[in-house]
Amino acid sequence: MSESVDIVLALERSEDEAARRGAAAAKLGVAVSCIGETRLRKHSIDARQSSVKVQLRLDVSLDGPLPEEVAPIWEAPLLPAHPRRVLIVGCGPAGMFAALRCLELGLQPIVLERGKDVSARRFDLAPLLREGRVIEESNYCFGEGGAGTFSDGKLYTRATKRGPVAKVYEILAAHGAPARILTDAHPHIGSNLLPNVVKAIRNSIIAAGGEVHFQTKVVDLLLSDGQLRGVRSSADEEILADAVILATGHSARDIYQLLADRSILLEPKPFAVGCRIEHPQAFIDRTQYHLGSAVPRPRLLPAARYRLATKIRDRGVHSFCMCPGGWIVPAATANDEVVVNGMSLSRRDSPFANSGLITTVEPADLTGFFQQHGVLGGMAFQKMLECAAKSAGGGGQSAPAQRVGDFLSGKLSASLPDTSYFPGIRSAPLHELLPPWITERMREGLRLFGRQMPGYIADPALLLGFETRTSSPVRIPRRDDTLEHPQLRGLFPCGEGAGYAGGIVSAALDGMRSAEAAAGSAAA
Ligand SMILES: Cc1cc2nc3c(=O)[nH]c(=O)nc-3n(C[C@H](O)[C@H](O)[C@H](O)COP(=O)(O)OP(=O)(O)OC[C@H]3O[C@@H](n4cnc5c(N)ncnc54)[C@H](O)[C@@H]3O)c2cc1C
Repeated sequence: MSESVDIVLALERSEDEAARRGAAAAKLGVAVSCIGETRLRKHSIDARQSSVKVQLRLDVSLDGPLPEEVAPIWEAPLLPAHPRRVLIVGCGPAGMFAALRCLELGLQPIVLERGKDVSARRFDLAPLLREGRVIEESNYCFGEGGAGTFSDGKLYTRATKRGPVAKVYEILAAHGAPARILTDAHPHIGSNLLPNVVKAIRNSIIAAGGEVHFQTKVVDLLLSDGQLRGVRSSADEEILADAVILATGHSARDIYQLLADRSILLEPKPFAVGCRIEHPQAFIDRTQYHLGSAVPRPRLLPAARYRLATKIRDRGVHSFCMCPGGWIVPAATANDEVVVNGMSLSRRDSPFANSGLITTVEPADLTGFFQQHGVLGGMAFQKMLECAAKSAGGGGQSAPAQRVGDFLSGKLSASLPDTSYFPGIRSAPLHELLPPWITERMREGLRLFGRQMPGYIADPALLLGFETRTSSPVRIPRRDDTLEHPQLRGLFPCGEGAGYAGGIVSAALDGMRSAEAAAGSAAA
C-alpha cells in the first residue's frame, strides 16, 4: 500500500531521508518503522519567513516497495502509408510541440524554420555578443528551438487551464531535461541544457516520420478560394499541405507585414514595454531569504527570484521574466535596433539578477501610430523604441543604460556599475527616450517596489533599454471552435506570435492544441 503525504521541513533538514521519513510517519500516524520507500513528488521552498521551510509531497510505501517508476518517454504510432501533411512554420516551442502532437495523431508534420539548427545557431551568437553584429536570420529569437532556446528556460506558467502542463514537462524530461523539472514548484532548465533538449526533440520528430527544414523562410502564402493551400519559401519553392500551423513567434515582423499586405485580418492587442533591471544576485538573495549582510546564501537555496506587480492609472507595471543568477542578452533581430532580454544557465550562478521592468501598452495609448501604420501600429512603436535604443547605445549592440536613482530623478548617470550585458552599455537618459506616460508609470512603480523591497531602487540597481519583445502587439484571430483563421480555412495561427501564448510552456500547449485542431480539419 502507498500513500501520498505532504510534509514541511526546515531547510537544513529537508534533504535528510530520516527527517523525511519521520515527518511522513508523524503525518500518517504510523511508526517510522512502517515507512518503506519514499519518492519525491513536489518540492517547494517557502521563504516568506526568516526560517526557510521546504514543502515536500512524498509517495511513501507502507508495505513493500513503491511501484516501479518508468522514466518519461515519448513515442508515436507508425505513420499511415499516405499521411496527411501539416506544414508548421516556426520551430519554437509551439512549432515543436505541434509537430510532436501531429505525429501522435498520425499526421506528418513538415516543420519550416527560417533560422539554423541549434548547433550552428550557437556559433552565430558569438559575433552578436563580441562585435554587436546581428545575423538577422540566426540570433536569440530566430533558429531551432525559437526564442526559448538560449533563455532562462523557466517553465512555470499560469496557463494551467490551457492544457496538460504535466505532459509538456514529461516530454521535455523524455528529451533530456533534468528530472527535477517534474518535481520542482518553479522548474527551469537553463541555456546550457536547452539546446540538447531541442536537438533531441528534432530527432524524435524525424525518427517518427516528420521533417524539419532549417534556413527555410516562409515569404508568401498560397491561397485559393478562401483556403490556404501551402506556402512559398525564400528559395521560391511552393510547399503544399492540408493545413498550415503558423507558429512564427512575436519577432517575425515580416509575417505580420505579409498578412497585412494580403489583407488577412489581424487585430491590435495590448503588449508591454520597458527596460531590463539588474541587481547583484547577492542583494536579491539577502532580501528574499532574510539573510544578514555578510551571510552567504545557504547551499540548499537556489538563487532567489522575485515578482513585483502593481497597477498605475489603469496600466500594469510589473517585473517580467526574472532571471536569477543570469545574464542580460541582446535579443535584436535586425542591425538597426537594440533589444534586451534575459537568460541563465541551469546553475543560475552569475553574480547578477535581471528582470524585465515593464508597463502595459494598450492600443488606445498609440492612436498616432495606428493612424500612420494601421493594425501594425504597435509593432511600429516597438521598432521606434528599439531604434532609439540603438542610437543612444552608441553602436553595435551596446545598450543605453541608467542607474535607477538617476532614472527617478531625471539625470544622466555620471558612471555606470558593472553589468552582465556582454556587448557593453553607455550612459543615456532612458527617462527621455521613453514616452513620458511610460516613464512616469515606471517611476511610480519603481518607487512602490523600492518600498516593498528595500534597496531595490538603490545603487547599484541599473536599467538597460529597451525590453520591447515581451509579447506580440498583434493578434492573428482564430475561431474558437476550429482554431482556424476566420477568413482563411487551413490557416491555424498558433503560439506567442499569434497572441495565444506567453512563454515556453504556454506556447507548447498552444502548439499541441493547434495540432489537434489541424487533425480535426485534415480528417474532415
Ligand atoms: C532571451 C529570451 C529569454 C526568454 N526566457 C524565457 C523563459 O525563461 N521562460 C519562458 O517561458 N519564456 C521565455 N522567453 C519567451 C519564450 O521564449 C517565448 O514565449 C516562446 O519561445 C514562444 O514560443 P513560440 O513557439 O510561439 O515562438 P518562438 O519561440 O518565437 O518561435 C518562432 C520560430 O519561428 C521562426 N520563424 C519566424 N518567422 C518565420 C518564417 N517566416 N519562416 C520560417 N520560420 C520562421 C523563428 O525563427 C522561430 O524559431 C524568453 C525569450 C527570449 C528571447
